[in-house]
Amino acid sequence: MSCIFCQIAQHEVSANIVHEDDHVIVFNDLFPQAPVHMLIIPKTHYSTLNDIPPEDTTVFSLMHRVAAKLAHDRGFADKGYRLTLNCNRDGGQSVYHVHMHLLAGRPLLWPPG
Ligand code: AMP
Repeated sequence: MSCIFCQIAQHEVSANIVHEDDHVIVFNDLFPQAPVHMLIIPKTHYSTLNDIPPEDTTVFSLMHRVAAKLAHDRGFADKGYRLTLNCNRDGGQSVYHVHMHLLAGRPLLWPPG
């Protein structure tokens, strides 16, 4: 098993986990880029966004539902937040297990670098 995020999802590698259910696990990013920086990952391993099969029609709605609930529960839903998914080299992906960044707690610039 060489995927670090699969190892976190299987509790083989420690992480600061903030949510877990049957399909999704959320933990704090090791190198936060904002006061709130969580990673929302599916427990199913997909290396990149390109590898999600068309049959899996629920993965993003499950991730989004958790993100929206965290934003609500932690009180930054109204102020705002950003969900980001990076794909492959030009998209800035460094860990090859699909993940959604949940960023909040400061004004976020646009366009991104
Ligand atoms: P990306 O560049 O979109 O692939 O994002 C990968 C993110 O994973 C980066 O923000 C890293 O800081 C974060 N990261 C890498 N390894 C770990 C880890 N073991 N625990 C938590 N976050 C990690």
